[in-house]
Amino acid sequence: MAPFEFVVPTTLPEAIALLDPDDPGVRPVGGATAVMLMMKAGVLQLTRMVSLRRLEAAHSEVSVGADGQLQIGGFATLSSLEHSPVVQEGWPVLTRTFKTLSNIRVRNVATLGGNLAHGDPHMDMPPVLSALNASVVLTGPAGERTVKVEDLYTGYYETVVKRDELITRIVVPPQGRQHAAYMKVTTRAAHDWPALGVAVVLDMAGDSVNGASLIVGAATDRPTRLTDAEAMLRGEALTDELLRAAGDSAARQLDIVGDAHGSAAYKKQLLRVYLGRAIRKAIAASDSKEHA
Ligand SMILES: Cc1cc2nc3c(=O)[nH]c(=O)nc-3n(C[C@H](O)[C@H](O)[C@H](O)COP(=O)(O)OP(=O)(O)OC[C@H]3O[C@@H](n4cnc5c(N)ncnc54)[C@H](O)[C@@H]3O)c2cc1C
Repeated sequence: MAPFEFVVPTTLPEAIALLDPDDPGVRPVGGATAVMLMMKAGVLQLTRMVSLRRLEAAHSEVSVGADGQLQIGGFATLSSLEHSPVVQEGWPVLTRTFKTLSNIRVRNVATLGGNLAHGDPHMDMPPVLSALNASVVLTGPAGERTVKVEDLYTGYYETVVKRDELITRIVVPPQGRQHAAYMKVTTRAAHDWPALGVAVVLDMAGDSVNGASLIVGAATDRPTRLTDAEAMLRGEALTDELLRAAGDSAARQLDIVGDAHGSAAYKKQLLRVYLGRAIRKAIAASDSKEHA
């Protein structure tokens, strides 16, 4: 590995000043779990690594605002979020998903900001947070701007985050009484990278679907909304026949890409089957006390 400069700023303005909009070799790192893998593989060479580990604690905290929205500091570790009573209380779908990300050693240092900024379409949090209509606050030299998680990704490992911007906050609207689930389909251990990820958020009126938010990960170059299946569910009762039709329509809508976790044909079949299962899982989860 070629030598590089390693800097550990202690304030946010200092960290932003150390980034460089013109140099792709200057990178911020949260846990560095993704960056180090790329460096060891020889696909990324840094001139400067800007560690975010020693920044003000406020940027790693979790709270609920007066408007009921969850506010997560961009540098919060995945394990701190997995064990957060605030997240468990109001957003149980997030708690359940954090537990399936990688292993405890990675979760202890990896950050939510890093998970969202990396742009790998196999990441589990972008589909879930997109389905929940979450946003990120990006902070750069010109100040703050807010972007929906769903709009962060422009392609394979490509995002709208500028080189001198940091994800400093994630804002999640209340899950409330919405029924939500994330189905991570792996071909090896349960916490391994997904071959397919399906995030479901349902707003129900009795037995009928008022609104559905359905996002797929790990099957396309970026997390993708299943607009056809969403329209198909709206105003309908969730019968087995409808779920099968929604799965077929999702498989038709997406231009699925194969990878080391499965061929395009395999993932298409997974989507056909698992969309309905994820919807049933969301309904079942809402029956439990944790969602009441
Ligand atoms: C063995 C292993 C298995 C894994 N399995 C899974 C899995 O099943 N599911 C899953 O979702 N993830 C998985 N991961 C990925 C892991 O969740 C990510 O590596 C992690 O979330 C990235 O966080 P980090 O803080 O370490 O990011 P870093 O490696 O520090 O950074 C990743 C990227 O984001 C940028 N960045 C970091 N923080 C910020 C910020 N605040 N603002 C702007 N840009 C930033 C960096 O410059 C870099 O481009 C796995 C990782 C490993 C090593």
